[in-house]
Amino acid sequence: MEISMDVLVKRFKDYVGFDTQSNEDNDQVCPSTPGQMVLAKHLTEELKSLGLVDVKLDNHGYIMATLPANGCENAPVVGFISHMDTSPDASGANIKPQVVERYDGADIVLNKEQDIVLSSKEFPSLLKYTGQPIMTTDGNTLLGADDKAGLTAIVSAAEYLLQHPEIKHGKIRLGFTPDEETGRSADRFDVDAFGADFAYTVDGDELGSLEYENFNAANASITFKGRSVHTGDAKDKMINANVVAMEWQQMLPAGERPEHTEGYEGFYHVHKVSGDVEKVTMTMLIRDHDKKKFALRKEYLQEMAALLNKKYGEGTVVVDCKDMYLNMREKMEEAMYVVDLAKKAMESVGVKPMVKPIRGGTDGARLSFMGLPCPNLFTGGTNFHGRYEFLPLLSLQKAAETVLAIMTEAGKMKKDLKE
Ligand SMILES: [Zn+2]
Repeated sequence: MEISMDVLVKRFKDYVGFDTQSNEDNDQVCPSTPGQMVLAKHLTEELKSLGLVDVKLDNHGYIMATLPANGCENAPVVGFISHMDTSPDASGANIKPQVVERYDGADIVLNKEQDIVLSSKEFPSLLKYTGQPIMTTDGNTLLGADDKAGLTAIVSAAEYLLQHPEIKHGKIRLGFTPDEETGRSADRFDVDAFGADFAYTVDGDELGSLEYENFNAANASITFKGRSVHTGDAKDKMINANVVAMEWQQMLPAGERPEHTEGYEGFYHVHKVSGDVEKVTMTMLIRDHDKKKFALRKEYLQEMAALLNKKYGEGTVVVDCKDMYLNMREKMEEAMYVVDLAKKAMESVGVKPMVKPIRGGTDGARLSFMGLPCPNLFTGGTNFHGRYEFLPLLSLQKAAETVLAIMTEAGKMKKDLKE
C-alpha cells in the first residue's frame, strides 16, 4: 500500500495555497479569520468529490465526514483529526514551497535577495534527511505543514481506500477543525456527533513521533499590592510592589524554568510582569507531567503568598490559579490499545515509533477528557511556526501510510473487545 508522492505533494501545495493564519486575539468569532472558512469550503467539496459521505461543514468551520465501512461493519469506528489553521506567529499568505530534490547536507538558501538560509549548523536535524527530497519555504512565510501535512495525510489515505475497494476496513470518521493554534479548536468539537470509538490527531512532528502524554497546565495571575509614599518620606511606610514581585520571583526554584528543563521536568515560568510601586500584576505558567508534582507546585505558590503576606500584611499578594488542561496519559492508560495500534501500524510501514512526552498541550488531550481517546501522530514536518519550517517528503509519505495502516488494522478489531 504505497501512496503516491505526486498525489501527496500536489494536495499539500493546494492546501498551503490558502491563507489560514488564525488570530488568537479574536475570540469573538469562530473561525477567528475568514480564510479558514474558505479552505473549509474547498475541503468540503473535495471530500464530496472523492466519495466520502455525510460531509458536513458547520458555520464555525468544523468539518466532519465519513468513509463507510467496507466489509468490517462490526469493527470500532476510528477517527482522524487535523487542523486547518496555521500559526498566528508567522505569515501564511502567499506561501511558495520550494523542493530540494536531493538534500546534500549543505545549507539551503531559502531566499537569495534577503539572505535567508536554512542551515544544518543551526538545525542539525536536517542532516537526518540527507539524500532525501525536502520541502522548504521561500523565507517569507511559514510552510504550513502544521497542520496541512496532517490534512494531506488523512485525505490521501481516505482517497486510497476509496480507490481500492478490495481493501477491507471499518467505519472511519474524519474531523477537520479551525483555530487549533489559538487553543480553542476543542471547544466546539462535537465528540458525540463525531461518534468515533477512538481517534488520532495527525499533528505531530518528526517521523515516528507518537504522543499520548502532555503537561498538566495551570496559569496563575498574581497581584502584588504596594503602598506608595513619597520617596523622601518613605521610611518604614512604603511597600514597593515591584520589590515584592522580585522577591516572589526569587523564591521560585531557579533550575525549574523552561530554559533549564526538558523531557518530564516541570517548571514555573514568569510570563509577564507589569506595574508600578502601587500594584504589580504577573502571569505565570505552571507545568508538570506528574499529577502530584503539579498539585504541589500550585500549593507552593499559595505558601509563597502566605509567607509574603505575613511579612508585608494580609492581601499584599493574591494568587488566582486556573487549570488550563490536564495530562491525557491517565485517559490513555484506560485505552492503551489505541497507542498499541498506532505502534503496530507504524512498524508495518517500516517506521520506528518514538514515544515522547509533549511539553505543552494538545487537542487530543482535551478530546481524551471529553471521552474520545486521542493520541497524536507524526506528520513529518519540523521547525513549525516560522520561516525555517521544513517537510521531508518521505516522512509525509510515511505519515499518510501510517494513517492508512491504522485504518485497515482497526478493521480487524472487535468493537467491544477493542483488540
Ligand atoms: Zn498543529
